[in-house]
Amino acid sequence: MTRKKIVAGNWKMHKTLEESQALITEIRGIVRDEIRSNTSVIICPPFIALPAATRLLEGTDIGLGAQNCHFEDQGAFTGEISAGMVKSTGAQYVIVGHSERRQYFGDTNEITAAKAKSAVRMGLHVIFCVGETLAQREDKSYFRVVEAQLQEGLFGLDRKEFSHVIVAYEPVWAIGTGLTASPEQAQEMHAYIRKVIATHYTDEIAADTSILYGGSVKPDNAQTLFGQDDIDGGLIGGAALKARDFVDIVKAMH
Ligand code: PEP
Repeated sequence: MTRKKIVAGNWKMHKTLEESQALITEIRGIVRDEIRSNTSVIICPPFIALPAATRLLEGTDIGLGAQNCHFEDQGAFTGEISAGMVKSTGAQYVIVGHSERRQYFGDTNEITAAKAKSAVRMGLHVIFCVGETLAQREDKSYFRVVEAQLQEGLFGLDRKEFSHVIVAYEPVWAIGTGLTASPEQAQEMHAYIRKVIATHYTDEIAADTSILYGGSVKPDNAQTLFGQDDIDGGLIGGAALKARDFVDIVKAMH
């Protein structure tokens, strides 16, 4: 098993260019002084900060990602940003299928499939989000929902392409709500996701795929979540906007 431990920060629509530069500089300093583990740290600021972030992160091991991309490589799509454009900023990752994109911007499984394809084709790693709503948790359809998100929205990638994928399980009811899945609930779903990957690809590919948990992860709950067998790190929203909290979450990965 060679899968990586990863903590990624999703800044969402927060921070101007100046504010982004200040936060990156702060994170960079604390990571340099305090992180000795081999956990990969990734930050995903808004698009407008990506070129500056590339410069600020030069010479560090901190990865850089965008929060979205368009599914076409280029074309008449006013206001959109392609995976190739993201790549040209120096970023290496892109988040695809975040629940806010699914909920507010119409990102269906079909669209996430096309975005993941375009992103991998352009040489990016994909942080692919799946997760059920509260209603789906309560009506017990959550395994089926997450499996469909994977089958229809991601598994169009062939084995080689899939090696560029990190999966993030983010129960919608736990995002930004302060509610967290219990370590047992999260582990159960992570193990299920790994089984679905093994069935579609191979046991080895499943064992090598990093599966992150996201949903109100904070410094004080990170350690128990990250202690579960199939949880390989976290995708962090709110707490990624505070350098101290974000790095403390990275430390919980030890
Ligand atoms: C997210 O948006 O990916 C997320 C997990 O947010 P939060 O940590 O704020 O719940």
